[in-house]
Amino acid sequence: MVNLIIFGAPGSGKGTYASRLKDILNVAVIATGDIFREMIKEDTPLGRKVKSYVEKGLLVPDDITLDVLKENMAKIPRGRGFILDGYPRTVEQAKALDKIAKINAIIHLVVPDWIIIERLSSRRICKNCGAIYNLLFLKPKNDMICDHCGGPLYQRPDDTPEVIQQRIKVYEMQTRSLLEYYREKRIPFVEVKCEKLETPPEVIVQEILKGLKSLGLA
Ligand code: ADP
Ligand code: ZN
Repeated sequence: MVNLIIFGAPGSGKGTYASRLKDILNVAVIATGDIFREMIKEDTPLGRKVKSYVEKGLLVPDDITLDVLKENMAKIPRGRGFILDGYPRTVEQAKALDKIAKINAIIHLVVPDWIIIERLSSRRICKNCGAIYNLLFLKPKNDMICDHCGGPLYQRPDDTPEVIQQRIKVYEMQTRSLLEYYREKRIPFVEVKCEKLETPPEVIVQEILKGLKSLGLA
């Protein structure tokens, strides 16, 4: 059983790699951003509150986020590990996580800003199954239709240049200190650099697996 956190700026590919690693490592993926988007769709009072933060590129308050994490952790079958994508985003969230699970390693994706902006502006997602595409390098076979389920593809409303800039700023400010936090705790890191826009996901996934293997975690 292996418990991992995947870190990287918005658009660094966390969601794409996590969903591929999920099947290879037989772990659950908890992606707080995806969960929040589901909550927003449901249009409850809580969903509307979440929306007011997400649409501005701001962090959802820690109390709401921690409740969401705990609820989803509880759903993981016994004996199965997990990959966290999008949690923790603050040191407070990391401390809360320490109380509920032991983390075996951190996957850290290092991607320059220009790649992030290019990628997010051309990202499309299946409304039906959540599959992630990119109009530049991870094209769907048919324009705007999901290869897996035939669902319609859409662009996330926070994937606009202004909101992308804001999300990168929030990442720099609040999330960087998290890496420091885990380094001090001596949690092992698997660091993977992506320097080209066209590097295929499989290449990055293989690099991550190589790093995990060298730690005896895959
Ligand atoms: P990205 O990493 O591409 O910015 P996510 O899908 O991970 O996107 O998150 C989208 C939005 O959901 C964030 O901008 C933030 O508003 C909210 N969110 C996700 N995870 C958290 C978290 N752990 N704490 C607070 N807010 C979060
Ligand atoms: Zn789909």
